[in-house]
Amino acid sequence: MKVAICNLGQIVSGDWHNPFASGDTIIIEAGRIVSVGTADAAAIDDADVVIDAGGMTAIPGLIDSHVHVTFGDYTPRQRTVGFLESYLHGGVTTAISASEVHVPGRPRDPEGVKALALAAQRSFADYRPGGMRVIAGSVILEPGLKANDFKELADKGVRLAKAGFGAVASAYDYAPLVADAKAAGLITTCHTGGSSIPGSGAITGDHLLKIRPHVSFHINGGPTAMPDADFERVITQSDMALQVCTAGNLRTTLLCARLARQHGAFDRFIIATDTPTGSGIMPLGMFYTIAHLSSFTDMPPEQFICAATGNNAKVYSLDSGFLQPGKAADIVLIDAPDGGTQASALAAIKHGDIAAIGAVMTDGIPRFVGRSRNTPATTRQARVVRSRVTQDFAAAAQ
Ligand SMILES: [Zn+2]
Repeated sequence: MKVAICNLGQIVSGDWHNPFASGDTIIIEAGRIVSVGTADAAAIDDADVVIDAGGMTAIPGLIDSHVHVTFGDYTPRQRTVGFLESYLHGGVTTAISASEVHVPGRPRDPEGVKALALAAQRSFADYRPGGMRVIAGSVILEPGLKANDFKELADKGVRLAKAGFGAVASAYDYAPLVADAKAAGLITTCHTGGSSIPGSGAITGDHLLKIRPHVSFHINGGPTAMPDADFERVITQSDMALQVCTAGNLRTTLLCARLARQHGAFDRFIIATDTPTGSGIMPLGMFYTIAHLSSFTDMPPEQFICAATGNNAKVYSLDSGFLQPGKAADIVLIDAPDGGTQASALAAIKHGDIAAIGAVMTDGIPRFVGRSRNTPATTRQARVVRSRVTQDFAAAAQ
């Protein structure tokens, strides 16, 4: 299927070094972005579906790099069905598992945690709730896992490993497990801050600098923050990704953003939600954190949209997260919310408001065009002006 999105007012690229793409049109074919900018009339005539964006802003689909999936579109933690599809209506087109630790009675032995990660990876390989891309299967690091276990998992398609919920005597004991997982090519992640659920312990800057994961999960606290002095240490003494989460400490989220900029580490600054968790389900969590960072700092909103898209894509080696030719066509149209005081999506975010969502596309397929069921209405109207496919792309019943 070929899709053309025309009449865009602004295009956020996903690359915070160069956050805007010029032009007003995006052409998509077979799930990939073909061109960003301008297109001739023939390319638009050739499209099976033409969407008039009505002057809205296009951004890459948001990538939430901290979601506790289990199996199916269900979270045992909050006993809720359909949460991933609901996040899609919050502009999230990719959810990355932060480990399937919420599976009731989850296994704790090496064979069990390996099987859990592999089963999760397999079950979400082709299953897309509402069109959401879910990268599942994060092996929970438990004592007894060996280098060849990680190699086996990597060979079978598991990409992620998580430190923080294992039965280790001390958090320092994660260091050799993380080293083995890294050697096998897994992306390693580590709980940061005070203990979260029973069985987990505090992990602070000193632990992180010895464990050396690729990603400090919720460096702002999950939900309890580590000491303030540790942020600068982790930023300056390591190259680990600095993940801030909605379900954490807002003050240290802002502290971390300012320090990342000050130390030239913004490439490593990534936004996620850490949901579902004790804090609940937040379909607009990514936009809340983007709005908090934009309105409480002097940094521009497009920079934080890039932290929630392209920066996550780079850290996790994804082929989405950027509005560039060749990338996966995961695209969200946003706008100033109806009834607000601002004229554009970015101005609204800078003002502290949640952007209104007017359309979400994943894998080159419009999942809805017109109105998200979770945000206010848009000020402008996005509409399908031509379609040769038997689908009107309206959202499901509100
Ligand atoms: Zn978590």
